[in-house]
Amino acid sequence: MKTYRICLLPGDGIGPEIIAEGVKVLDAVGEKYGVGFTYEEALIGGIAIDETGEALPAATLAAAKASDAVLLAAVGGPKWDTTDPTRPRPEQGLLGIRKELGLYANLRPVTIFNALADASTLKPEVIDGVDLLIVRELTGGLYFGERERFYDEEGAGEDGGNGQRAYDTLEYREYEIRRIARHAFEMARKRHSKVCSIDKANVLETSRLWREIVHDVAKDYPDVELSDLLVDNAAMQLICRPSQFDVVVTENMFGDILSDEASMLSGSLGMLASASLGDGVALYEPSHGSAPDIAGQGIANPLAQILSVEMMLRYSFGMQEAADDVLAAVTAVLDAGFRTGDIKQADTPEDKVVGTELMGSLVAERIQPTEKFAELWGRHPDDWKDYRAN
Ligand code: NAD
Repeated sequence: MKTYRICLLPGDGIGPEIIAEGVKVLDAVGEKYGVGFTYEEALIGGIAIDETGEALPAATLAAAKASDAVLLAAVGGPKWDTTDPTRPRPEQGLLGIRKELGLYANLRPVTIFNALADASTLKPEVIDGVDLLIVRELTGGLYFGERERFYDEEGAGEDGGNGQRAYDTLEYREYEIRRIARHAFEMARKRHSKVCSIDKANVLETSRLWREIVHDVAKDYPDVELSDLLVDNAAMQLICRPSQFDVVVTENMFGDILSDEASMLSGSLGMLASASLGDGVALYEPSHGSAPDIAGQGIANPLAQILSVEMMLRYSFGMQEAADDVLAAVTAVLDAGFRTGDIKQADTPEDKVVGTELMGSLVAERIQPTEKFAELWGRHPDDWKDYRAN
């Protein structure tokens, strides 16, 4: 039997609760498709700081490198918030593992589940047909450039103060742009053959280099249509005409901001997954944070985590059919009217509002029914195909 080793990084807040549901779904997939998944759990983020003094302990990195794929939940929380640059911060774990695994491409799909169309703050006609993929460069640019904080007289200005100054550096190398552009064009070939490259070429030199290289790479993909958009315009287009986009490719910080904006098209952060790919082990995680406000209550939405499992099956294990199965199961659960608190609608009946564990079980049972199915779904497994809320 084919076996994959998965490194689990539950992290902080709701992390441990939602990752358990991801594992439940993987086990159902393993059972159905005759594939074995073994798990090794490791520390990252705030909990790692508490237990080892570091957000990314060496043992975690070793476990991640020895695995076939990494499943991460989320890190962070008020307990570890600090502006003191000498103290470790949970997100150093995230940035560190991305850098160490060479994960330079972050993929965030945004699709609208019909059953949740009402959850978006945008009008239904605006989000109709939205199916886009943001490909964000993840290991270069401002977040990794040289930075410094220091004191000098000019920093004080006329109003006095301590004279503090700080700078961050935005730098890109040709090969960094080339490889992310290739990812975007390859993805577009498997989708709707359109790439929109986003930059700020009217102001930034890095953007002018970005645009030049992306156009050069495009010559190898004559079947893919390439367009450019300035980032400020892109921010507007994403909420006024989001269905025009297929694959969007952009640098690290623009991608960070635009992908959060795009995530709101679907109305809930609890539904969006992401994949970070490089040339070796890849990492899969929900797009949301550790939701400390609801941690430990058993009410977090595990679907983004489950959809990150779907991406893992697709991109790391080449299990397309199983990945489609997971997506179909999530769609069926939503079509049947089940909702966690964050995605419930005004007309959602109380008995359809479910917690984290039940939501995970509903998806897992829909993939590979067990004797629990009838109890959870309220009918026999043979009938699930036409099961709808009304
Ligand atoms: P957040 O995404 O954790 O939460 C924002 C809001 O969405 C909260 O009201 C939360 O309850 C809700 N929410 C998020 N995920 C949910 C889910 N699965 N189910 C139901 N509701 C959900 O963002 P935040 O509050 O800005 O950040 C909280 C902590 O998470 C911070 O420490 C932040 O640094 C960290 N964070 C981590 C990541 C990551 O690990 N990749 C990403 C973003 C933020």
